[in-house]
Amino acid sequence: MEEYLAELNDAQRAPVLQVDGPMIVIAGAGSGKTRVLTYRIAYLMHKGVDSFNILSLTFTNKAAREMKKRIADIVGSSEAKNLWMGTFHSIFAKILRFEADKLGYPSNFTIYDTQDSQRLIASIIKEMGLDKDIYKYKQVYSRISSYKNSLITVKAYFQNAELVEADAMAKRPRMGEIYQHYVDRCFKAGAMDFDDLLLKTNELLNRFPDVLAKYQNRFRYILVDEYQDTNHSQYLIVRALSDKFQNICVVGDDAQSIYAFRGANINNILNFQRDYDNVQQYRLEQNYRSTKNIVEAANSIIDKNKTKLDKVVWTANDDGPKIIVNRLLTDGDEGRYVASSIFENQMQHQLGNGQFAVLYRTNAQSRAIEDALRKRDIKYRIYGGLSFYQRKEIKDVLAYLRLVINPKDEEALKRVINYPARGIGATTVDKLIVAANHYDRSIFEVIENLDRINLKINSGTKTRLENFINMIKSFQITNETSDAFVLAEMVAKKTGLLQELKKDGTPEGIARIENIEELLNGIRDFVEGQKEVADVRGSLAEFLEDVALATDLDQDTGDDDRVALMTIHLAKGLEFPYVYIVGMEEDLFPSGMSMNTRSELEEERRLFYVALTRAEKQAYLTYTQSRYRWGKLVDAEPSRFIEEIDEKFLEYITPIESYRYKPLIDSDIFGEVDKSKLRLKKPVSGSPPLAHKPTEEQLRKLRKLRPTSSGTTDVSSNTNLFDQDLIPGTAVEHMRFGKGKIIKVEGVGQDKKAEIHFEKGGIKKLLLRFAKLKVL
Ligand code: ATP
Ligand code: MG
Repeated sequence: MEEYLAELNDAQRAPVLQVDGPMIVIAGAGSGKTRVLTYRIAYLMHKGVDSFNILSLTFTNKAAREMKKRIADIVGSSEAKNLWMGTFHSIFAKILRFEADKLGYPSNFTIYDTQDSQRLIASIIKEMGLDKDIYKYKQVYSRISSYKNSLITVKAYFQNAELVEADAMAKRPRMGEIYQHYVDRCFKAGAMDFDDLLLKTNELLNRFPDVLAKYQNRFRYILVDEYQDTNHSQYLIVRALSDKFQNICVVGDDAQSIYAFRGANINNILNFQRDYDNVQQYRLEQNYRSTKNIVEAANSIIDKNKTKLDKVVWTANDDGPKIIVNRLLTDGDEGRYVASSIFENQMQHQLGNGQFAVLYRTNAQSRAIEDALRKRDIKYRIYGGLSFYQRKEIKDVLAYLRLVINPKDEEALKRVINYPARGIGATTVDKLIVAANHYDRSIFEVIENLDRINLKINSGTKTRLENFINMIKSFQITNETSDAFVLAEMVAKKTGLLQELKKDGTPEGIARIENIEELLNGIRDFVEGQKEVADVRGSLAEFLEDVALATDLDQDTGDDDRVALMTIHLAKGLEFPYVYIVGMEEDLFPSGMSMNTRSELEEERRLFYVALTRAEKQAYLTYTQSRYRWGKLVDAEPSRFIEEIDEKFLEYITPIESYRYKPLIDSDIFGEVDKSKLRLKKPVSGSPPLAHKPTEEQLRKLRKLRPTSSGTTDVSSNTNLFDQDLIPGTAVEHMRFGKGKIIKVEGVGQDKKAEIHFEKGGIKKLLLRFAKLKVL
């Protein structure tokens, strides 16, 4: 047996060794589904399957990269290079580029991100003179997105009386027209939105049997991770491509299906058997990720769902500590608790930041956590907020680059035609848009032909428009001969973008310049990387595609040691030793917007299952008594999900004693805190301790103490109980380690630490409030 196969248990090895035929692996969290896919690919290659013939679809490109790395370890990196691995969107964007002309698209089509799509929809709504309070552009966007993911084209929409009726009932009778305009405008701009990447792939495979045959022959072996979250459009692509050879392996967990709201369809799992002949079904039951406490607590939660496939998940790992539940007064307190708990764990177990994750239901919750981490000087990284590539200054530079590649790109053009300001006003742009719609041409083409059409634009403006077009054209010429980095640098300078920001001079302006520098560095790395792979000039088009499809996780280089902050949705498939799940409150988690039906509530519960099963060693659940929501302090109630966990897996802390007025702890070294003094046990009978409503006076105090984002008040470090007069050079004695000398002191208040050189024990870093040093 090949050595690597010994790194699998028997149940995992079975689907790896079955080379041919359709198979499905349904198994709980942490049982090695992703590992099975990885090893299966390596095994296929060992069995002589050409790496060009393998297609593997993952939830993030980062997951694909990690799998590829592991496969390269096993089979060698030159072989692994040829594997097609990535998200549905990135793989099919590549295929669409090859085949674009068949669909009437240029191969240099732009990919509109959500913001581009929403801006375009907003402007269509405005141009049609519709009421923007009834036709809310974000809602319209998500309607259109769901049509596309169900393969409902504009034509199909108008033929579907039910849909038309539903929109009319919702007082949006002109939905179909907006949809039509949106599709037309994207097409004219040579742009596809995210959903198009799937929709057009389906169109391609349906309309062109020869193209379908080509890719069926190419992708003889197809593997799909997180199959439970594929939507209808993705499902059809997989089915079409695998139809000929039927070598398809999907893995998933119905208990982790969390994207129904975006059209993911759990029936894809249930129907798999029906779609293929002789499907082999495999189950994995042993969890390798988490402690017994976590695995069993997670089982006890998912057990409450009625709609589920029966599964067993067990682990041979240690019991581990119980899940800690803590009640805090407000979200600010919650942040401080999380930060101080992370800090204590780091001190006790000598851990870096990368071992910790804080998970929340909504992005808005991150702010309080961030404030607290910043105050403690704990480095963190937020995933899924405004990603780097969505920052204004970055999008500005990218818009110029997009125009160079595809001058028809309407959203890019509108973005920069007058930024930095060059005297081309909004009225002029509106006239151009009207003309472009009228002549069915792009705005760029309209400007190129200003002499031939009758537009009321004065000669000064006309010159400015022509200058703009000429500038873009000069960039195009540079792009013919130089690499993407040279061009991007030129764009930053010649367009006046950098000067504009320099003029600004504020700290924000400087930060923006730094971001642009960072972007240029990124482009340089990309170019260098491409040159290594093949002797080519790093193409700008490819860079832009990478950027458009980068999920937020993809920017994680993995080298910096930071606490990870993200929504639970993003955490799928990941694992961390310590996980804090914050905001465990009714109306927040489960979300107030997802409690109308049992199926919505069950999806929230699956989300909780996903959250808890990310933890390897220890999980924390926190909730508050009152929380600022929509700018108001509102009462909160503990989440029903806490109550649903079998009590024997939980340990409750009383919040106030736990950090706010924490007494000196009797412990000889910080590693051995007497926990009984920190935590009060939960009362034996009854449901979880119900939050005591804070008194009016407490609330007043809290509001006063509430830290602002610039962070001024910190109630957790207002104690001087732990301050000792220690400076480097002071001779001290520790009960356990004996005599030593202080080398360095850092931190303040409760966080004050000293690096001490002990005569016998060597150098140690101790938290002073636990260390109880005697000054000699
Ligand atoms: P999820 O449902 O969260 O996506 P999963 O089923 O994909 O989880 P993996 O991520 O593949 O599970 O595995 C979970 C952890 O267990 C990983 O750290 C993996 O390396 C480890 N693991 C899986 N199988 C084994 C094994 N046979 N021996 C040792 N470690 C294993
Ligand atoms: Mg996985």
